[in-house]
Amino acid sequence: MAEKSYKYIILGGGVAAGYAAREFVQQGLQAGELAIISKEPAAPYERPALSKAYLFPESPARLPGFHTCVGSGGERQTPQWYSEKGIDLVLDTEVVEASVAQKSLKTASGDVYKYGALIIATGATFIKLSDFGTPGADAKGIYHLREVEDATALYEAIKANPNGNAVCVGGGYIGLELAAVLNMNKMKVTMVYPEPFCMPRLFVSEIAAFYEGYYKEKGIEIVKGTVASGFESNEHGEVKVVKLKDGRELPADIVIVGVGARPNIGLFKDQLTVEKGGFKVDGFFKTSAENVYAVGDVATFPLKLYNELRRVEHVDHARKSAIQAVQTIKAAEAGTSVEEYDYLPYFYSRAFSLSWQFYGDNVGDAVVWGAKGADKVNAKFGAYWVKDGKVMGAFLEGGSADENKALATAARNQVPVLGLDRQELLFLPPSSTV
Ligand code: FAD
Ligand code: NDP
Repeated sequence: MAEKSYKYIILGGGVAAGYAAREFVQQGLQAGELAIISKEPAAPYERPALSKAYLFPESPARLPGFHTCVGSGGERQTPQWYSEKGIDLVLDTEVVEASVAQKSLKTASGDVYKYGALIIATGATFIKLSDFGTPGADAKGIYHLREVEDATALYEAIKANPNGNAVCVGGGYIGLELAAVLNMNKMKVTMVYPEPFCMPRLFVSEIAAFYEGYYKEKGIEIVKGTVASGFESNEHGEVKVVKLKDGRELPADIVIVGVGARPNIGLFKDQLTVEKGGFKVDGFFKTSAENVYAVGDVATFPLKLYNELRRVEHVDHARKSAIQAVQTIKAAEAGTSVEEYDYLPYFYSRAFSLSWQFYGDNVGDAVVWGAKGADKVNAKFGAYWVKDGKVMGAFLEGGSADENKALATAARNQVPVLGLDRQELLFLPPSSTV
């Protein structure tokens, strides 16, 4: 059991950690000042690759190919990069105890790490159906996806079940992205979700109808309005049947469960102020304790644009919040300051040859253009969310980089649309700034 001391520690080795490390280096870092402690065996990587290119049937992405910060066009930070910069990467190491008062972290093997400043970047963990007591939900062949080890296990299961039956439980990001990649691997895929249409937290029915139609044309079955109520396994404990609440039964060799994620806040939840499931931070990602910052999925931050506190579970915010926290730390050391975080929510997803982006807030009336009958090969359609005569959110499938930029501008500036009638807005070209 050892005790080590660092000026800065990043707890968690995911997306935010990789971008925070890069920012520390850019701002000026001495060798031995920074350690990253991560439960994962790999240096920080771009997690979005796991539900997409990692599972492709041909030339799947593998590490070290997608270490941060390649996802935003930056340098590929391999373990060698960290050692060259004098950053200690403490991998395969779970922190099991933390004391804000002592400024210390204790690992599963009993080592103690002391910090001057701490950045908590522990991300989130998938929710399991066994958390709700669904019978049989721990059977072999039921997969969740968060870390590279989960993706490797799933990849091997796909290869072991050519032309097998796969069931995706959940119609959110994981459900939609995994159904696509399983179909690309020639599995017979059925999606099951309780809502009337997929991605209900963001999509409206007209948008969802396009994606559901596209998936059905690819041969994916969609079962809506019911949930998985149990699983049956064979004598080896391998899942074989998904039982649905409406009485139907689906054959399954592989089941993917994507029913949401829960932020990893347990280590500090009695020591830091918690709100909306995450650590409450200010516009600089400072938590309620001095020199303790929280970024990425675990941070509940002031979303200045909408004057409310929000937690965001997407990669763009993980990157930007990490950068903001490091800039705050370094500015304080230099006796200067940085601007408060002023985030424009940005989400995206890719599946098959489809690719959509969304900026802003999906509040108010959704005005959808071009979705009905959209070409399935070169699909292009979008939506604006309009509230009090202003554009609040903007969505585009199949947009170019410039068009997506224009969308972001419209959502950021909350462009007034009072001069336009509904019909004009409906056919607004995506490259327009409204
Ligand atoms: P994470 O990247 O999850 O990193 C957390 C790290 O902390 C992990 O390494 C974890 O092992 C470690 N950790 C946790 N607890 C401990 C502990 N006690 N001790 C040591 N280490 C610990 N977002 C998008 O915008 N677009 C996408 O296309 C997209 N695709 C995704 C695909 C998948 C499969 C998943 C799971 C998520 C995807 N996301 C996507 C969401 C995005 O990846 C997350 O929002 C982002 O990774 C959050 O970054 P983070 O650093 O906060 O957490
Ligand atoms: P999501 O929250 O996106 O979606 C989960 C969906 O499952 C929701 O629609 C939820 O409904 C529904 N659901 C809840 N309980 C059940 C149930 N018992 N049976 C069936 N459906 C249920 O989570 P995911 O699991 O898809 O993703 C996990 C994490 O990974 C999230 O943080 C997500 O942001 C991230 N991710 C992001 C991607 C991206 O940005 N492109 C890609 C992949 C993952 P309800 O809303 O009513 O709870």
